[in-house]
Amino acid sequence: MIDLRSDTLTKPSPGMRQAMASAEVGDDVYGEDPTVTALEARVAAMFGKEAGLFTPTGSMANVLAVAALVSPGQEILCESRAHIVRAELGAHGAFTGITSRTWVEPDGQLDLPTIQDLYAPDMGTYFVRTAAVSVENTHNFAGGTVLPLDDLRALRTWADEVGCAIHLDGARIWNAHVATGTALSEYGAIADTMAVCLSKGLGAPVGSVVLGSAEAIEQARIRRKRLGGGMRQVGILAAAGQYALDHNIDRLAEDHANARLIAAACGVDPSTVPTNIVVLDVPSAPEVVAAAAERGVRIGAVGPRRVRLLTHLDVSREDAERAGAILAEVLA
Ligand SMILES: *Cc1c(COP(=O)(O)O)cnc(C)c1O
Repeated sequence: MIDLRSDTLTKPSPGMRQAMASAEVGDDVYGEDPTVTALEARVAAMFGKEAGLFTPTGSMANVLAVAALVSPGQEILCESRAHIVRAELGAHGAFTGITSRTWVEPDGQLDLPTIQDLYAPDMGTYFVRTAAVSVENTHNFAGGTVLPLDDLRALRTWADEVGCAIHLDGARIWNAHVATGTALSEYGAIADTMAVCLSKGLGAPVGSVVLGSAEAIEQARIRRKRLGGGMRQVGILAAAGQYALDHNIDRLAEDHANARLIAAACGVDPSTVPTNIVVLDVPSAPEVVAAAAERGVRIGAVGPRRVRLLTHLDVSREDAERAGAILAEVLA
């Protein structure tokens, strides 16, 4: 079976397991796990942020980051298919009391004029107050699309003028970095808070990191405990993250090449596949998913007539070639 349903499906490699087994640990709720502390500081430095906080999931990282910027009853603006509003099961409303409004952009891009239109920080006592804008790079449900740095900078410039905060959901910021060559610190510079994921393309079994100012991360640490996310000898997991950062960033280029290879085999212009996600419009998603699975390729439906596939660490060049051939057959 070649499993292309998600880049979360990777399994820790022998080298990663070795690093986990030999990790130095302590009780992280007491701030005494050196491996966690080192990981948090390392990721913060990579993005030029003051501090970081290790979380079990990207969803929790997003909830904690957004809560540091937006108070209960205030709103955040984001694209309509953003992970924070589509795939976190209402966590921001259910746990931290935040509402949202969205703009629609087919490729998940920024739409600054519309954002400026939506932005309402203080329209009296009758309207919800906008406190932040969230952007997603790469954009998952838009097909791994990259937000150009110039657009992000234009958003930052405007946000500074009006006093609006920016959250960057960078679950796959590593893919954007590798696809464009943009320095991670450039991405860090446009955001007040970020969430970055170690368990997608980087191949760790668990873990994300929230990044921001020392004060935002202090708040996030309190909220993480409140949500039941205070973890103990979790250096075992942070060690997997450290290993992923050491070994698995640059190789994301292979995933991108494999995604383009599969896209081309499926009759999709590979230049429309910027990173590791391929979205295909098909006559019937359930039928295509079932037919592909029967022939040994697992993909996922993301709409009634839309399927999504992702390349990752556990998909070799040969796997991609075979998957491409099988999917071409299924689509024909
Ligand atoms: C996967 C993902 C997350 C976090 O997902 P978890 O499954 O909670 O770790 C957040 N944002 C985006 C864009 C994602 O793709």
